[in-house]
Amino acid sequence: MALVLTESLVKDYHLGPHTVHALRGVSIAIERGEFLAVMGPSGSGKSTFMNILGCLDTPTAGRYLLEGMDVGALARDELAHIRNLKVGFVFQQFNLLPRTSALENVELPLLYANVPARVRHQRARDRLVAVGLADRESHHPSQLSGGQQQRVAIARALVNDPAVILADEPTGNLDTRTSVEILALLQRLNREGITVILVTHEPDIAQYASRILSFRDGRLLRDEAVVAPRDAAEALAALPEEEAVA
Ligand code: ADP
Ligand code: MG
Repeated sequence: MALVLTESLVKDYHLGPHTVHALRGVSIAIERGEFLAVMGPSGSGKSTFMNILGCLDTPTAGRYLLEGMDVGALARDELAHIRNLKVGFVFQQFNLLPRTSALENVELPLLYANVPARVRHQRARDRLVAVGLADRESHHPSQLSGGQQQRVAIARALVNDPAVILADEPTGNLDTRTSVEILALLQRLNREGITVILVTHEPDIAQYASRILSFRDGRLLRDEAVVAPRDAAEALAALPEEEAVA
């Protein structure tokens, strides 16, 4: 059974008398353990596609099966429940709560799931260790670099052990070296079993994935395998030494 299966997915947005056809019939199967890059020009439907996959939104027409479950047919609260269990989101702007510690930010999805405090702290701590931030748990976002903030966001995305991580331009606000560090982390998590779907408009970044979907005008234009995906850990080692920045 595919992790993600869409059949002729359509999404229309109605703005007064106008209809925007954001997705015009997207059919795709994504298996567990894949690492996908989603590309395409601005407005081509990438975020709409991700929002539907992540159960933030439902299609106007067509079907979406997540682990065989027909998600399009679910009520709002059921959709939110599935989202909390199955999906971890990572965004370009990190979307962390300010004036809130890294640990509390990571705990947040567990709070919504009514997990007891002791379990919450331990799980959040474990995820911060997994992203290399064991020593930053009481730092607030403003006390962390961009790369560290994105690691906190990835730890938060991992805290419910989701089936899939959906990352919409996760390196869009980061410099080259930090971007490759984040890709190395995502590749490691992917090797450990998690499915990763990452939106990017940079062809260089897409080469770290093993499959690239290209959108154009709400349609899937191309679906191609990357013959030899780049290894981010190797790429990091080959980058010039870091300047003296923390
Ligand atoms: P991308 O992420 O590839 O830039 P989007 O999925 O955000 O593209 O948008 C696809 C199209 O749908 C665009 O024309 C955009 O303006 C429109 N759109 C996206 N979200 C909404 C919304 N909430 N309401 C109305 N139109 C929207
Ligand atoms: Mg977008």
